[in-house]
Amino acid sequence: MGQETKKLSDEYEITGILGRGGFSVVRRGIRRTSSGENENENNDVAIKTLKRIGPTTPLGKTTAATSMGFPTRKQVSISDALLTNEILVMRKIVENVSPHPNVVDLYDVCEDQTGVHLVLELCSGGELFDRIVAQARYAEVEAASVVRQIAQGLVAIHQSDIVHRDLKPENCLFLNQTKNSPLKIMDFGLSSVEGYTDPVVGLFGSIDYVSPEALSQDRITTKSDMWSLGVILYILLCGYPPFIAQSNRQKQQMIMAGDFSFNEKTWKSITSSAKQLISSLLAVDPHRRPSALELLNHPWVNGDSAKEDPMD
Ligand code: ADP
Ligand code: MG
Repeated sequence: MGQETKKLSDEYEITGILGRGGFSVVRRGIRRTSSGENENENNDVAIKTLKRIGPTTPLGKTTAATSMGFPTRKQVSISDALLTNEILVMRKIVENVSPHPNVVDLYDVCEDQTGVHLVLELCSGGELFDRIVAQARYAEVEAASVVRQIAQGLVAIHQSDIVHRDLKPENCLFLNQTKNSPLKIMDFGLSSVEGYTDPVVGLFGSIDYVSPEALSQDRITTKSDMWSLGVILYILLCGYPPFIAQSNRQKQQMIMAGDFSFNEKTWKSITSSAKQLISSLLAVDPHRRPSALELLNHPWVNGDSAKEDPMD
């Protein structure tokens, strides 16, 4: 981890834009190296800049708050709370999880008047979202590989008491362009660390993936991520989401009632093992959902029920 005062432009050359979010811009960059040093090393990075929007806290204060824990809600605007939160979670990941094949790595943090720059491992294979759109439906063995990789990442972060809270195909990136590229969980902007006060209470991720307990403002736990993974698996296998409604209000009611079905023609050709797995992940009662570790031991996920899988 670099010094807090490190200047971004001294250390990295920005080469393009990778994506944009509500409070952030993500750019591609190359680490400047002193002559002859690590010539063969991969110096490509992604730089996520979290902008300060609300009343800014003094630079040093944010840094101190970051290393000690969450500042109190009164001291910061929502944008600053999110910013502080993401850095705190990423630091915890660096301490407890990295390097992990299924979790994006944080290399460095730089800070200036614009905000905070998280220097991240570059994942140049695009979002899982784009591959789903391009492919429409996944074969079961391919879907199992995606679920296995996300579950492996979740095991690691859940063991560190981190709940992702915004797990969706837009927040899973492939490391490279190959078909068998590793898949990485990223965007810990809305994540929470169990045991800390949650500065983003009431805010949750995309409605399509959000759990019933998040909607009803109940306690959000690692099992809430398992619900989101259930939604992802459903979409992978049929190409459309489990909860479709005319209005968000109606969709919320369906989610809270666990009101989904497999009654379309599409699901006829899908194994009962896959359907049972989805039903267990989309259980309204979080206690009835498998943990990430339990999921990895499920035959449909670990490949025991798909020995014909050429990738395994
Ligand atoms: P936000 O919190 O604003 O949603 P994200 O962290 O999800 O921001 O990043 C926004 C987009 O930028 C991502 O969906 C992805 O397309 C791109 N991106 C983010 N991190 C990386 C990375 N490490 N490598 C490549 N692209 C990235
Ligand atoms: Mg995102």
